[in-house]
Amino acid sequence: MRRAWLAELWIIGGLFAAGVLIGYFAGAMPWWVAGAGVLYAAFNLRNARRYLGWVRGGLNDPPPDASGLWAEVMHQVLQERRNARDAAREADALVEQYERSVQALPDGIVILDADLYIRWSNAAAQRLIGLQDPEDRGQHIDNLLRHPEFTDYRQRGDLDRFIQIPAPTIVDRVIRVGLVPFSSGQYLLVCRDVTERVRIDRVRRDFLSNVSHELRTPITVLGGYLEMLQDATDELPDRWKRPVDAMHGQALRMRHLVDDLLLLSRMESLEQPDTREEIDIDRLAAQVREEAVALSGAREHRIELEVEAGTRVSGSVSEFRAMFSNLVRNAVQYTAEGGLIRIEWRLDEDAARFVVTDEGEGIEPEHLSRLTERFYRVDKGRSRDAGGTGLGLAIVKHALLHYDGELEIESEPGHGSRFACRFPRAIVIDSPPAPSPLAPSAPCVEGSGAVC
Ligand code: ADP
Repeated sequence: MRRAWLAELWIIGGLFAAGVLIGYFAGAMPWWVAGAGVLYAAFNLRNARRYLGWVRGGLNDPPPDASGLWAEVMHQVLQERRNARDAAREADALVEQYERSVQALPDGIVILDADLYIRWSNAAAQRLIGLQDPEDRGQHIDNLLRHPEFTDYRQRGDLDRFIQIPAPTIVDRVIRVGLVPFSSGQYLLVCRDVTERVRIDRVRRDFLSNVSHELRTPITVLGGYLEMLQDATDELPDRWKRPVDAMHGQALRMRHLVDDLLLLSRMESLEQPDTREEIDIDRLAAQVREEAVALSGAREHRIELEVEAGTRVSGSVSEFRAMFSNLVRNAVQYTAEGGLIRIEWRLDEDAARFVVTDEGEGIEPEHLSRLTERFYRVDKGRSRDAGGTGLGLAIVKHALLHYDGELEIESEPGHGSRFACRFPRAIVIDSPPAPSPLAPSAPCVEGSGAVC
């Protein structure tokens, strides 16, 4: 660059010196010097015109001959173009590599625009959903995924979770699909073949349920005979009384365990409530309170009940009873005698809650996230002594899943706990669900192939 400037200065200096020299000998020096300036300007104008023509032509022709500063300018422009081409080639290679890796993913990926029209899909998505690329670009996703559960999921806009539906075009295959928002209002539809996992889950559940069923009858028979023996204490030798009591206690425990296992496996096997009935929360909560008073017995807990308006909900009574009574029973079991237990039904803008608050022993924070695991107990011995099976909160969690609900747990060791079943407000009868951002069904575009 410095050399180009020097050359340019030499040209200017040379022209000026020539003007001065000729003017010195021929007279009228200012005219000769001015003439040299005009010559320099004309030379530059000509170069500028050729250079502009070359740039306007897209730099495709060979660059015009130039020297000095103009040669440097052309060199820089060509260099820039070369760099831009290299960067574009690199970006293309990166995009191609990215596309190839997304194509190779075993998970299906579909890129959707903000209105859920298909823009791109990888090979796995084409196989799992039956998409054709590029023919289906521009189609609304509803035209390809017509399962009511997907439509429902999309309308509710509940994007925190994925759902399982049958693969639309492959018989006996189950896919897990979900919408993931990304960059400026677009969505990724992600899907995966989970047929094998579903099958293994079903085998495990069936096994558990069959074993529980098989155990139920012998345990009931044993329990019945032991109860008879207990009733006939007069005829029993003294040394047999304690063993019979202990055996009866264990038989009862086993029956509770088998009952809970059966209930849990039934809940797991369903994705929705087994029935949809109108439930009066007011009545159900009062019954659960009565049971809690009976369970508390001589321990005389103070059990308060407060039910807010909006008590008619849609669901399965047996599931609601299981959820409510497990939470209330735990509160009685883990609260010292005379302690306060509050049972509440609360409604707010987007949720309904069944809340049980106790003044019990509380739970250390490190246990909270694991409480809903099967057989997880903070204190195994204490739970067994209290007649717990270790399955109560797992049952609550699974029942809640049928309603898209969640179990909220707060606890302070030494002060008590708060367990709340949070339901979407939509389960309350007469309460319209909040509209979702994805809810408006897609406008039907003529010529898009959609069935309008
Ligand atoms: P369990 O039959 O043992 O009560 P759950 O699944 O109902 O089983 O509860 C799991 C564990 O959570 C219990 O063993 C207990 O340690 C703890 N827990 C549940 N509810 C309460 C509560 N209200 N206060 C203190 N600990 C509780």
